Amino acid sequence: VTDLVICGIRGRMGQALAGIAAASGDLRILAGIDREPAEGSAAEAFGCPEIVRLEEAADAITRADVLVDFSSAPATRELVRAAAPALKGRALVVGTTGLDAATEQSLDALGRSAAVLVAANFSIGVNVLLGVAERLGAVLDTAAYDVEIVEAHHRGKTDAPSGTALALGRAVAAGRGVALDKLRRDGRSGDTGARPAGQIAFHALRGGGIAGEHRVLFLGGSETIELRHEALDRTLFAEGALHAARWLAGRAPGRYGMKDVLGL
Ligand code: NAD
Repeated sequence: VTDLVICGIRGRMGQALAGIAAASGDLRILAGIDREPAEGSAAEAFGCPEIVRLEEAADAITRADVLVDFSSAPATRELVRAAAPALKGRALVVGTTGLDAATEQSLDALGRSAAVLVAANFSIGVNVLLGVAERLGAVLDTAAYDVEIVEAHHRGKTDAPSGTALALGRAVAAGRGVALDKLRRDGRSGDTGARPAGQIAFHALRGGGIAGEHRVLFLGGSETIELRHEALDRTLFAEGALHAARWLAGRAPGRYGMKDVLGL
């Protein structure tokens, strides 16, 4: 049995994870972490024996094999700082998106004492698509093919563009041998002028209950190539994250990615 602590247990993803863990037979949730603590039947309703605040989570984390985090960027930042000592020799799976550079650096540092896996998207399809996007970036002439990335998510999503859209953009940029930062553009409005060659542009749609849709368009003068992925249900991401948690439990300290889990 793999023992888990789930940060963001009351959320959409936290509850998808709890549902799958309960039905799995080999995953046990020792505790949830969220803003509002709970115990007894109030916690059981969310699929765990207790819900604790971030500041009080160290004890539960030291009893777990893997800490799984789907919360918010500020919570992840605080979690990585506060839980680092408790995580020594254990494993951390992060699915939270919109992380800032300081948090990324803390995750790198944590990777020296714990097994750390961060992924903006846990679906097999998107991870395969990242490789395809990089390949197309490498083979299609930058001056001849403009890249536009369009994503759509439910009305509750708070960061834009999505972490997956940025990962797809980074993959195309890597194929082109350039860094995304210099070429990135988010949306367009007003007198934008003509589109510069090499720009990689992002467009975010928000509304309704969309679990997640991503399109990468390579727009040539006389042809268009489109990569498209649609998540039909967020249990897809929860299944992938728990697959990663099983894989990561007991691994040596280091930074890992879904590429390693999926053998891509
Ligand atoms: P949500 O808002 O439904 O849930 C987030 C939960 O975290 C809430 O219960 C909230 O109370 C809790 N939380 C937030 N800040 C906290 C804090 N400071 N202390 C304690 N608890 C805190 O969001 P969601 O739809 O479940 O998504 C969560 C994150 O996962 C987002 O960043 C989203 O982009 C990401 N996500 C990633 C993937 C993936 O495959 N990597 C898939 C879906 C969502």
